[in-house]
Amino acid sequence: MPNTVLERTPARPNPSVMQMAEQDDEALRHFIALPEKYLSILGPRRLPPVVCPMSSTLTALPISTSVGFSMLEVADYGHYVHKLSPDIIVSLADMPYGESAGSRRKQKMSTRTEKWTKEMVKVIKGRDSGGSSASRSCLFVPILPIDQEAQTLYLEMLGDELKDAIDGIDGIALYEANSALIIPDNLAPLPRLAMTGANRPQDVLRDIRLGADICTITFINAATDAGIALDFIFPAHAKPAKRLTMGIDMWSAEHAVDLSPLTPDCKCYACQKHHRAYIQHLLSAKEMLAWVLLQIHNLQIMDDFFAGIRESIQRNTFDEDVATFEERYEAELPTKTGQGPRYATLTLLFKSAVLTVDAEFGVINASLKDRTSLSRTL
Ligand SMILES: [Zn+2]
Repeated sequence: MPNTVLERTPARPNPSVMQMAEQDDEALRHFIALPEKYLSILGPRRLPPVVCPMSSTLTALPISTSVGFSMLEVADYGHYVHKLSPDIIVSLADMPYGESAGSRRKQKMSTRTEKWTKEMVKVIKGRDSGGSSASRSCLFVPILPIDQEAQTLYLEMLGDELKDAIDGIDGIALYEANSALIIPDNLAPLPRLAMTGANRPQDVLRDIRLGADICTITFINAATDAGIALDFIFPAHAKPAKRLTMGIDMWSAEHAVDLSPLTPDCKCYACQKHHRAYIQHLLSAKEMLAWVLLQIHNLQIMDDFFAGIRESIQRNTFDEDVATFEERYEAELPTKTGQGPRYATLTLLFKSAVLTVDAEFGVINASLKDRTSLSRTL
């Protein structure tokens, strides 16, 4: 039974991107205006995932959509992948978020994920009975974030049943860094996509040490949303007198008359064209341009961070450089001190008794009796 305004909104049978896909063989890329040099990745759930009130079934996964919670059928997911042609498709994994799984639930997770993975291989590689052609997308299959024993059969299926059809699997998706340790041997050479919810640069370095080749990073958006300009480099410079902060809180009034760039030597548009005082003014005025400039800067910091990591690996000094980074910088990013425009939106939604709030903000499925605690959390 739908319980939010969004969920009571009539479903859109054919979303705009799917209409576009009728004539465009790279509909997803063009729909989101993604430049050619970047890979597009399509997964069933966002990062960080939104906790859904429904449970998965043998054929479907609960997801949060722009019109409320919905069940995503495995067959429909295959259809979307064929139509949207992302560069990387992450196969479905049965993972209950927001609750801990007991042994029986873990068994179900493994069984369902095994079944769904087999179906996705057939669909993506054009081996299904429907006679669909092979998709141009690369298929990344999940390793479940549970112990090895609980997913033994699934791992055996990946390692043995598909070993003669290794072209059926193009990569591995990891939801927990330690899952890299249980990847079947014959799949070990495949590229690894880390979807581990890295919320600090140190987490990214940990994932890479465990073999991640592609990283998904949620803290860039979180830092930008919090008005934080990222400020770190890899490898770290000479040892400072005290540990360095990894971000600058641009809400602070101390930047109000500061005409220096966000960080010295940064090549980004925001640092080349504007100074801290201007960005601080935009934030205070809640102008969206503030977050746009901060995001441009934060993406540049991460581009430079990964360039430094690649060079460090080539020099064969990565482990030492990671140790130095952890020693020189504080363990956490600065915490948020100001409230952006989304705060006002959330408050408005809540006053309208919309009971489901995006998990990005740390609150989900709040009920009316939780009003006080919700306000406190916000
Ligand atoms: Zn910059």
